[in-house]
Amino acid sequence: MFINDYCIYSKMGIDPDFKKNRQKVGTHNGHDVYGPVEPPNKLGIHGSVVAIDWDICNADGSCIPACPVSLIEWNDTPGNPLSNRKADPAREGDCIFCMACQNVCPVQAIKVTAP
Ligand code: SF4
Repeated sequence: MFINDYCIYSKMGIDPDFKKNRQKVGTHNGHDVYGPVEPPNKLGIHGSVVAIDWDICNADGSCIPACPVSLIEWNDTPGNPLSNRKADPAREGDCIFCMACQNVCPVQAIKVTAP
């Protein structure tokens, strides 16, 4: 099923090569944002170390309590066809690379890259 050209049943998951395949278009909460960004329908990928694809995130929220250092927070995204809030890697520099968020995400929206 498609809403505004977005397949809400997409099982593609985040592109593991997003840093090569996408352009940085800005920053948010101290992390990079990779485009395309055309709100409210396309929101891009937030974060470089803990990257969360906001065009896949469906606000399941499992990643938030899973993170042992509580670095992921909700960010409101009103009007987005998939969900009106997204998981934001607000303090990705605190990541200890346990991979819990990546493993718990039911739609594979998260890619954690250890240094
Ligand atoms: S890998 Fe672990 S520490 Fe890093 S954001 Fe995910 S849950 Fe938190």
